[in-house]
Amino acid sequence: MDAEFDIGIIGGGPAGSTAASYLAKAGLSVVLFEGDTFPRDHVGESLVPATTPVLLEIGAMDKIEAANFPKKFGAAWTSAEDRNIDHNGFRGLTHDFRAAEILFSERDQEGVDRDYTFHVDRSKFDAILLKHAEELGAKIFQGVRVSNVDFSGENPVIQAKVGSHQVDFPVRMVVDASGRQTKLGNQLKFKIPDPVFNQYAVHTWFDGLDRKALAVNKDQADYIFIHFLPVSDTWVWQIPITETITSIGVVSQKSRFQQYAGDREKYFWDTVASRPELMDVLKNADQVKGFKTEGDYSYGMSQVAGDKFVLIGDAARFVDPIFSSGVSVALNSARIASADIIAAAEAGDFKKERFATYEKKLRRGVSNWYEFISIYYRLNILFTAFVQDDRYRLDVLKMLQGDVYDDEEPKALAAMRDIVKAVEEDPTHLWHPYLGDLKAPSAKPSF
Ligand SMILES: Cc1cc2nc3c(=O)[nH]c(=O)nc-3n(C[C@H](O)[C@H](O)[C@H](O)COP(=O)(O)OP(=O)(O)OC[C@H]3O[C@@H](n4cnc5c(N)ncnc54)[C@H](O)[C@@H]3O)c2cc1C
Repeated sequence: MDAEFDIGIIGGGPAGSTAASYLAKAGLSVVLFEGDTFPRDHVGESLVPATTPVLLEIGAMDKIEAANFPKKFGAAWTSAEDRNIDHNGFRGLTHDFRAAEILFSERDQEGVDRDYTFHVDRSKFDAILLKHAEELGAKIFQGVRVSNVDFSGENPVIQAKVGSHQVDFPVRMVVDASGRQTKLGNQLKFKIPDPVFNQYAVHTWFDGLDRKALAVNKDQADYIFIHFLPVSDTWVWQIPITETITSIGVVSQKSRFQQYAGDREKYFWDTVASRPELMDVLKNADQVKGFKTEGDYSYGMSQVAGDKFVLIGDAARFVDPIFSSGVSVALNSARIASADIIAAAEAGDFKKERFATYEKKLRRGVSNWYEFISIYYRLNILFTAFVQDDRYRLDVLKMLQGDVYDDEEPKALAAMRDIVKAVEEDPTHLWHPYLGDLKAPSAKPSF
C-alpha cells in the first residue's frame, strides 16, 4: 500500500507529541493516534531541567510558562526526626541527613536558560504539548486506539479502531510512544521485565497540605520532597500541583502491597503511619482525588529500533521514578530519535542502522539513570553522603538535572559503584549493615 503519511506515531503523551512536533517542524507529514481523549490524568508530575532545551527547541516553552505551573527550583530529602529508628534500613547517621537538598542553579547545564523547571498537572501539560504538535502541522486523532501494526508489506500499516470500524493507515515508518502500554514491545516480544525493581505506587492529591511542615529550610516548600519512611525500600513523593493542591505518592515493593490484598487505602495510610509527623500533615489536609495504583513498572526492551520503527519514552524503557526522570527521558528520546528519523527520511531509507545514534544515546542515558537508582536503593546512605560531599555534589546534581545523554559515565557513578562493591565484600565495613534489599546485577543490565 502507498504510504499516506511519512510517520505514524502511537500515543500522544509527552514522548509522542514531542516527536510529532520535531518531525512536523522538519516538514514531514505526521499522523498521531491517541487512545484517550485529552485532557486525561497521568502520573509523573515533577520535571527535571533536561526538559527545558527540548521545550525551547520545539517552541512550546512560552505555552508551558503561560500555564503557570509551580516552578521547581530543586529537590529535598527528609527522614524521620527520631535518629534512633531505622531510616530506610539504616540507623545512627552522623551527617545531617535531614538537610539533604539540591538547587538546580548550582550547576550550569547546556541549553538550560533558567534556574527552575516545573511541577505539572499532567492533564494540562500533556494537552498543551499535543495541541502544539497539531499547530505545527501533525494530524492528531484522539480517542483512536492502535490495535496492531502490520509490518508484512513494503510500508508498515497502522491498524486502528475508529468507532466500530478498523481503519488502515499505511506510513513510511512508525514511532511507538504508547507509554507503559508498550504497544510494539508487546507485539514484537521485545519486553524484558526488570530483574530487580518491582515497585508499586499508590498516589492521590490533597488540598491544603502544609508543604513546609517537614521542610528543614522552610523557604523551599515548593521543591519536590522525597520523604523516606522507616520501612525498607519505601518512600513518599510530595509534589506541588497548584498553590494549594499537592500530589502525594507512596512507593514500596510490590510484595509489601500484595499483603494488603488490593486495599489501596489501607496500604497508603498504614505505610504513611510509619512516619507520624507525615501522617499528621496528611490528616490535616483534604484528599481531593481517589487513590490510584501504578504497578509492574520497570522493564527494558531487547530492541528499541528496527527496520521502519523506533520506540521512545516509556514505550522504550522504564526505570523506577525516584529521580523524576520519566518525562525528561520521554522528551529527550523524542529529540534524539527525531534527528535520526529526519536524516533517514532525507535518505529515503528507514533501515534499523539509521537509528544507531538514537539507540546508543538512549541506552547510555538510561543506563546511567538505572545504575544511579540501583545504587540509591542498594546503599542509600551513600547517595546522601555524595550529595553532601563537595567532590561529588555537582556530578550527582548533573544526574539529578537529567543531563545524562551526551557524555560518558559521570565520575560520581564510578566512585559510588566502587564503594558499593567494597561495602558488599567487607562484612565489617561500617556501612555493611545499611545495604538495602534490592540488589541490581553488578554487571550493566543487558537492556
Ligand atoms: C509511580 C510513578 C511516578 C512517576 N513520577 C514521575 C515524576 O515525578 N516525574 C517524571 O518525569 N516522570 C515520572 N514518572 C514517569 C512518567 O509518568 C512517564 O515516564 C511519562 O509519562 C512517559 O511519557 P510517554 O509519553 O512515554 O508515555 P505516556 O505519558 O504514558 O503516554 C502514552 C500515551 O499513549 C497512549 N496509548 C497507549 N497505547 C495506545 C494505543 N494502542 N493506541 C493509541 N494510544 C495509545 C496512552 O493513552 C497515553 O496517553 C512516574 C511514573 C510512575 C509509574
